[in-house]
This record gives sequence, C-alpha cells and structure tokens, in this order.
Amino acid sequence: MASILIDQVSKIYDGGVHAVKAIDIAIEDGEFIVLVGPSGCGKSTLLRMVAGLEAISQGTVSIGGRVVNNVEPAERDIAMVFQNYALYPHMSVYDNLAYGLRNRKTPKAEIEARVTEAARMLEIEPYLKRKPRALSGGQRQRVAMGRAIVRKPAVFLFDEPLSNLDAKLRVTMRGEIRKLQRRLATTAIYVTHDQLEAMTLADRLVVLNGGTIEQIGTPLEVYHRP
Ligand code: ADP
Ligand code: ADP
Repeated sequence: MASILIDQVSKIYDGGVHAVKAIDIAIEDGEFIVLVGPSGCGKSTLLRMVAGLEAISQGTVSIGGRVVNNVEPAERDIAMVFQNYALYPHMSVYDNLAYGLRNRKTPKAEIEARVTEAARMLEIEPYLKRKPRALSGGQRQRVAMGRAIVRKPAVFLFDEPLSNLDAKLRVTMRGEIRKLQRRLATTAIYVTHDQLEAMTLADRLVVLNGGTIEQIGTPLEVYHRP
C-alpha cells in the first residue's frame, strides 16, 4: 500500500498542448480513485505521468512519500493494466504472468507460488498453458490483471482496461477488479470515460475537464448534487 501525492502537476507537450494544468490530488493508502471526463481532458496523460511513461513538465508526483519524477517506471512499485491487454502473444499464459518476476530474478518456487495464487484468484488456472490467442477477451483481460497482481505492487494503475469487452463482461470484470483491489488493499488509480463505471468503482472520483479538476469527491457527492 502507498499514498500518492500529485502536487501542482502540469503537462505541456512539445508543440504546446497544455494537457494537464497544475493538478493537486492527495490519494490515501488503499484508496480507489477514478479519473473520469470526456476524451482529451487529460486523464491518460495524468495517469502516464504517475506511471513514469510520460515526463512531468511541472510539479511533483510522490508515491509512499518519495518523489518519483526521476524514478524509472520499473522502480516505482506500480503495475499498470492497459486497454489492449499488452500480452506477449508468443508466450503461454503462465509465462506472461511469470515474465516480470523472472526479470526481477525472483526465485523459481516463489514465481510458481505467486503465479498459481493469481491464476486461482482470477479463475484462469485451466488456461495457464494456452497462448493469448486461444483465449476470449475476458480471459485475456484476466491475464493482464494477473500480471499486475503477481508483482504485489503498492499501486495499480488502470487505463480504460474494460473498454474492449462487451457490456455484460464489463459489469462482471468491474466487480472483480474492485474485489481484488479490496482484498489486496492496493492503492488504485483508474481511468475511464464511462460515468457508470466510474460511479461503481470509485471511493473518490476526479472529474477532469480541459486539463483541470472540475469536481472531486465520492460518487454520491459528485453525481447526486441537488
Ligand atoms: P484523455 O485521456 O482524457 O482522452 P489525453 O491525456 O490523452 O486525454 O490527452 C489530453 C490532451 O493532450 C489532448 O488534447 C491530446 O490531444 C493531447 N495529447 C495527448 N498525447 C499527446 C502527445 N503525445 N503529444 C501531443 N499532444 C498530446
Ligand atoms: P504453438 O505456438 O506451439 O503452435 P499453440 O498456440 O498451437 O502452440 O498452442 C499453445 C497451447 O494452447 C497448447 O497447449 C494448445 O493445446 C493450447 N490451445 C491452443 N488453442 C486452444 C483452444 N482453442 N482451446 C484450448 N487450448 C488451446
């Protein structure tokens, strides 16, 4: 678990687009934050700056009290789940799950234990030997989640992870993501343009518009204003 402090963070892209404008968000240990808002409002840019995939133009991002502006993504104790799953097509599900741990020289027995545990949680144990192409969209998304879980990161980052799934599966996976995040007590930032998804998942919502915060609060506070 880790708190995240986003302090006066801005992003100005080469060419001058001011995508994120002096944003402040203090995220508590174990909190589930959803960034929501229309396409182009800066959600993905903000998430990518927390992930270390995008340079921060101004301000600081701290994870667990440590400023991470100049810390490599791999050293940030985060795991990110993407919309397109980003699985390795030539590797089995098992190897996809084990990949990050092998890179970190985790002992083999520990890798096996963690992969098995994650596969059990996500109910993908029967598919460990398959290649991603032999899986349905929902199963692939579970593998992508599994890859995040095995790392036991302090922070989960989600970039529209359910957008490629059909409506029914989205509802199921939404529930599963929330259940897993509670069980693992991992701090989460989740990006979506879907208001219903945002409302169902969030402890607190951050509504972005034009690179600034329009509203911030619990789903009740944000969507049930008189
Ligand atoms: P969202 O995730 O809310 O759709 P983005 O963070 O992707 O928004 O984009 C915010 C703004 O930054 C948009 O105006 C977008 O066109 C611009 N933008 C995003 N990525 C880049 C980039 N690599 N270079 C220049 N402008 C970008
Ligand atoms: P290779 O890359 O060596 O040709 P495949 O991609 O054909 O291997 O298969 C990889 C693994 O996934 C094998 O264990 C295979 O039995 C399993 N597999 C592939 N497609 C399916 C499927 N539709 N249903 C169940 N298992 C499958």
